[in-house]
Amino acid sequence: MAEDSRYIRQTMLPQIGEKGQKKLAQSKVAVVGCGGLGAPVLTYLALAGVGNIRMIDDDTVNLTNLNRQFFYTESDIYQEKCKKTADFLQERNTKLTIEPFCERLTDKNVRRLLAGVDVIVDCVDRIETRKHVGRAACGFRIPFVEGGVHGFYGYVLPVLPGESACLECMAMGTIEEKPPIPALGAVAGVIGSLQAVECIKILLGLSHVMYGKMLQYDGLYGEFTEIPVHIRADCDCQKFNKIVNDESHMQ
Ligand SMILES: [Zn+2]
Repeated sequence: MAEDSRYIRQTMLPQIGEKGQKKLAQSKVAVVGCGGLGAPVLTYLALAGVGNIRMIDDDTVNLTNLNRQFFYTESDIYQEKCKKTADFLQERNTKLTIEPFCERLTDKNVRRLLAGVDVIVDCVDRIETRKHVGRAACGFRIPFVEGGVHGFYGYVLPVLPGESACLECMAMGTIEEKPPIPALGAVAGVIGSLQAVECIKILLGLSHVMYGKMLQYDGLYGEFTEIPVHIRADCDCQKFNKIVNDESHMQ
């Protein structure tokens, strides 16, 4: 089959078409975290043809990852996640530019790693890194998609900086959980897939992105709940200049 038939099952959608597919091919997304959420997010973005995918994770594979992180095999233990993930994605779609960064996101590297992308997808489980991601995304005014999992529970919240609330607006993420955090692989699959859908909608410029709404999933009871979230005026996400003093470096 010709290469252009690869995306036919999605280009037939009026919301995508050839034009939307081209948009996806020209898009650049950063996914922070190659774990339980990163696996479905990165897979579906790559398969959908998002042209430039940047992934950031300094972790190595260990046995406790294998209940949910399907990029890795038993023989990958102690290997760098980022590189293994890049291989997994590139094998499935050789046309894409996949950029692995095997480093932890910090104040020092955040501009180099995140500035200039179209969307950031937050797939981390450390609260400090989550704050870096949220604050950087707000500072650079890049839309981002939060996602988190705890056992059978998970949530998704896309954020448009300056326009819709972030996790810190709702004072969520202020309590540090002691690792290991319980996580059912299938629940991470649900949440990561929802993050990928929202990311693709943002890239395509579609309306109805779930800005201002946190979608919560309770796998134990099989229930989805939508919670409206409101901007807190004194939240850091509203203070762009404080976070990023010099926007002239933005590309
Ligand atoms: Zn906020």
